Amino acid sequence: MDYTISRKALEGLCRILKEDRRENSSGRTSAIERKLAENGYISLIELTDKLGMEERRGGGVIEYILQDLISALGIPTLTLCYRPEQVGDEPYPFEGFSEIDVAHLLIQLEHLGLQVDPSSLVHKLADKLGSARILTESELAVIEYEHRRSSRKIVLQVEGHSAAVETESTSHTDSQGMHCTVISSDHVPVRLEIQGPKHEAPLETPIVECSICRLSYVQNNPADERRHSTLHQERMSTINPQPDPRVIALMPVKDGSLLVEPDSPLWMHDEVLKRARAFRLEFGYDRVQWDGSSDNAASPEWRGHLFVSDEGAIAGACGFYGEAASPPELHWIWLAPPYRRRGLLKAAWPSLTRSYGEFDLEWPIQDAMLEFVARHGTPRQIERHRKLHSS
Ligand SMILES: [Zn+2]
Repeated sequence: MDYTISRKALEGLCRILKEDRRENSSGRTSAIERKLAENGYISLIELTDKLGMEERRGGGVIEYILQDLISALGIPTLTLCYRPEQVGDEPYPFEGFSEIDVAHLLIQLEHLGLQVDPSSLVHKLADKLGSARILTESELAVIEYEHRRSSRKIVLQVEGHSAAVETESTSHTDSQGMHCTVISSDHVPVRLEIQGPKHEAPLETPIVECSICRLSYVQNNPADERRHSTLHQERMSTINPQPDPRVIALMPVKDGSLLVEPDSPLWMHDEVLKRARAFRLEFGYDRVQWDGSSDNAASPEWRGHLFVSDEGAIAGACGFYGEAASPPELHWIWLAPPYRRRGLLKAAWPSLTRSYGEFDLEWPIQDAMLEFVARHGTPRQIERHRKLHSS
């Protein structure tokens, strides 16, 4: 992470880090924690004062540069005041911090190599956060603390500095394994890089396409790799479907397909969705034509069918769409490769035309589908799609 900082603050920080760490006297951050426990907040003045007692290196310079560090690191400050003696009294505002933002500040200062220990405050706050789903930046820093401790790299650079004028660089590693590199220009520090002992250079993150499920994802990006793994499994179970107990429970299936309408169980809506995705992926369309899922039923304009094999596997699906005034059209149909050209669609077609009339197919239509209609469609379908195809 890169931050821009004032020249004065960078010089002060370098002075602190040049000195060896001092013996850790116990309970150092407890003074700040006590203040926070008392009021829920701490003023900038108290915080500066108490940090000055903890980090004494560099002749106590932390007290002079703290405010610059806080703004460089983007820690939010609050305007606070004491409760007036009587309502209506003039309040005395002062600058301060909430507990969570102090924790964030201490986490950042520890990463910068300063002698502070955020751990007990962080653990207390992480417990309070529980499983909250929306987090502020400071709350995120708290829940990621253990995971990222010692493994970050922070770069602080003086405002307006250009890399072209860098002249010398010195490095050292402190007793905690924090690796500091100071880059100076005319003997004045202009850039400081601090790397935790567990920091690893980031891996390359190329976009790759899985040759099996054909999904593109960012390699070495954990969230994207998890997303791929889920979709990969889903895709494999769609491409090579196995007998499904939920389907077997509904067998025998009349006319070879299960109708999926608004009040059908959600798992059926989800299974149609998986095939709608497979269709989109295989034929390169830009949108999925099915809005049902395991969370909600599809809109009333949609009707789905799940084609079922003799063994009770979901061999494929299709989606009909029709707004109230217009007859439904077949928008897409997808069969798993092992079930193509095996007569499943031919067996289901008469019942589909009974349900939807001599329906049209939405364009564009794959060649295999046109060929199918030419051989097995109703006379009107054959006529209509032959004409449209040759026009
Ligand atoms: Zn894959």
